[in-house]
Amino acid sequence: MIEDAVKLLRQRGVSLPEIAALVREIQLAYYPGLTEEECLEAVTAVLKKREVQNAVLTGIALDMLTEQNLVPEPLGSIIRNDDFLYGVDEILALAITNVYGSIGLTNFGYLDKLKPGMLGRIDRAKKGTVNTFLDDLVAGIAAAAAARIAHNHRA
Ligand code: MG
Repeated sequence: MIEDAVKLLRQRGVSLPEIAALVREIQLAYYPGLTEEECLEAVTAVLKKREVQNAVLTGIALDMLTEQNLVPEPLGSIIRNDDFLYGVDEILALAITNVYGSIGLTNFGYLDKLKPGMLGRIDRAKKGTVNTFLDDLVAGIAAAAAARIAHNHRA
């Protein structure tokens, strides 16, 4: 199932090396020797978890179904407009950040607020594209991978 999640991310324009680059960007200040390889290893480890795969499959399916006008109203419009009071996209991403404890949550809050690197690009996707869940899923994966690196360096 990791292949399905990776394929779906790829289909939505997100590659694992790109997520790894994002992880490195936010962690380099704390771990100056941090390599792209180590970040990619952490991202892959996060995606091996079943609850992470489930969140990715669910969130991206909702983005895609909304694009195809297959989600009933009023939910379709709420997701399409990325209504900031909706919040279920962030809640779903918490299933990802949770896998490495509360430090993942702190990282997620940071990424969600500043939307650095590829997160900004996802957020500004062209008209007709719905990435309401995708930005939070990617931020969740990056946050959890960053938390894994922090735990590994402490160990
Ligand atoms: Mg969102």
